[in-house]
Amino acid sequence: MGASSEAEQHPSPAAPSAAGGEHAQRRRKHWGWGYEDEQPTSAQLAALARSLEARLQVPFQEPRAPAALEQLRLPAVRLSAPRALAELCTSSHYERARHAHGSSYADVVEGFYGRFAAAPDLVAYPRSEDQVQALLAWCAEERIAAIPYGGGTSVVGGVRPQLPAGYAGALCIDLSRLSGLYELDTVSAAARLGAGSSGPQLEAALGRSGFTLRHYPQSFALSTLGGWIATRAAGHFATGQTHIEDQLEALRMATPAGMVATTRLPASGAGIDPLRLMAGSEGALGVITEAWVRVRRRPRTIVRATVSFERFELGAHCIAALLQEDLQPANCRLLDEHEAALALAEGERRALLLLAFESPAGAQVARGALAAAMDRALAICAQHGGALRGEARFQERSQPSADAGAGAREAGEAGWREAFLGAPYLRDAMVACGVFTETFETAVTWERLAALDNEVRGAALRVLEGRGVRERDLRLSARLTHAYRDGAAPYYTVIAPVARGEEHTLWQELKSAISEAILAAGGTITHHHAVGRDHMPWYGRERPEPFAAAIAGAKSALDPRWVMNPGVLLKVPPLS
Ligand SMILES: Cc1cc2nc3c(=O)[nH]c(=O)nc-3n(C[C@H](O)[C@H](O)[C@H](O)COP(=O)(O)OP(=O)(O)OC[C@H]3O[C@@H](n4cnc5c(N)ncnc54)[C@H](O)[C@@H]3O)c2cc1C
Repeated sequence: MGASSEAEQHPSPAAPSAAGGEHAQRRRKHWGWGYEDEQPTSAQLAALARSLEARLQVPFQEPRAPAALEQLRLPAVRLSAPRALAELCTSSHYERARHAHGSSYADVVEGFYGRFAAAPDLVAYPRSEDQVQALLAWCAEERIAAIPYGGGTSVVGGVRPQLPAGYAGALCIDLSRLSGLYELDTVSAAARLGAGSSGPQLEAALGRSGFTLRHYPQSFALSTLGGWIATRAAGHFATGQTHIEDQLEALRMATPAGMVATTRLPASGAGIDPLRLMAGSEGALGVITEAWVRVRRRPRTIVRATVSFERFELGAHCIAALLQEDLQPANCRLLDEHEAALALAEGERRALLLLAFESPAGAQVARGALAAAMDRALAICAQHGGALRGEARFQERSQPSADAGAGAREAGEAGWREAFLGAPYLRDAMVACGVFTETFETAVTWERLAALDNEVRGAALRVLEGRGVRERDLRLSARLTHAYRDGAAPYYTVIAPVARGEEHTLWQELKSAISEAILAAGGTITHHHAVGRDHMPWYGRERPEPFAAAIAGAKSALDPRWVMNPGVLLKVPPLS
């Protein structure tokens, strides 16, 4: 092959990208989801609350207003940046507040009521890799906790500056200015992107050349490439290449011990894979500054179908059969009867399987091959008692698009998808109305799925009923988000009334009971939400002890003073 790289007019890593600038003009809310200009008025919130209450059939309380930014009390600032780094750092009240919490229900509650037990002392906005390295050198020197921050959508306490003893303070390193498409290699179909690029930024940039990363976590609007890699996020593909590391070709990570940079390779059998060490490192080894990821032409043809099953478990058996016959639908999500009723707003109580096959390469679509795959899948569904709703529908796309949301919208059933991406906004409204809402996820082999499902539902109900919540007032629903030949990733949503002031305790009780149930039933503490600080007690039991020691060794080599995101992935040993 000839020239390997098509250098397009992309911003250099050292300069803030235009796309980053656009986001910089809109301020994120200091609590919860989205931007300040998206906050509903009190009348809009009241109307939303009424319609959600009617739809969910869960009692809502009178909406309250969130604690105002200017009334928040933050802990005193303990750090002052050296002169050379001062222009990168801020201790502004707003910046410290907005980087203090991640995005779990517990985080949203804390932000809503204005509880800021911890906040970063300073927030840094590096614009180059050198600046990241200089910040890390300062942190190592002064034993300051360095907390990489992508979009702050962690739901496991990954960005919370809650420090063990021995640290001088916390520096939040916001990567949003290390963003943009730096290079696009159309020969090898790969792109070099800044780690701070958000989902919409990177899809818009790739879309201009007809490419896509096709990674759509539900947090797509705010989360970043670096965050996805650091947490091994799972996205659009429900089967096959489910996790971001499946698209990862190379990356660069700044560590206190220096830069770690891997070579671009399609595959390698050379020893332990350095990419696999860094993907999933959750900021505990270093700061991912950029990555090469495999991209693809946007699919031209997609065929979709919806199949209903009398029971969730019948749909699950069907998915196992589909995958074991080597079918690989892009979408293969199974909603239990509760989720299905909400998605369809119908009274009928049946589980729903959302199926889609898409052309892998785009250009000359083998429409016949997609039709054959769907026909075979539907035949297997019928053998498992599935009933096709309507008919399989083809969708053709003609033009490349820079519309960042287009891919996300086409990724599944349109209505369900819109609801999927809009859900985080509704969560803020529910917090304002005294309604608990949180999700719990895992993965387990097929033969254990039914028992795990039973255990998790039982554990959640025991906690809620123990707190006097009547069964008719709560919603406990499940879906399978991702599936494999040997198992699947169940994902539970709990919605229930909660007394004001009791939110955090209820969250802790549910997190603990459900996590115990998952481990007891042979599941993993996380399929894609990561470990962070909140899953540490269970991760510590899931992970083999000698492996923990090996990771600690890697950390000591890359981060000898243990300043990188302390408390995440590894317990901090006594500091000398
Ligand atoms: C409503 C909602 C829906 C979600 N849906 C999904 C989903 O569908 N799939 C899924 O996988 N997850 C999902 N998540 C979880 C979350 O979005 C993912 O974990 C995501 O990958 C985090 O990306 P981020 O950029 O927001 O990272 P952050 O939240 O900022 O950080 C997450 C962790 O990664 C570290 N980190 C961030 N950037 C870097 C970097 N450049 N270098 C080193 N470390 C870094 C942080 O220190 C932290 O430990 C969801 C969260 C919410 C709130």
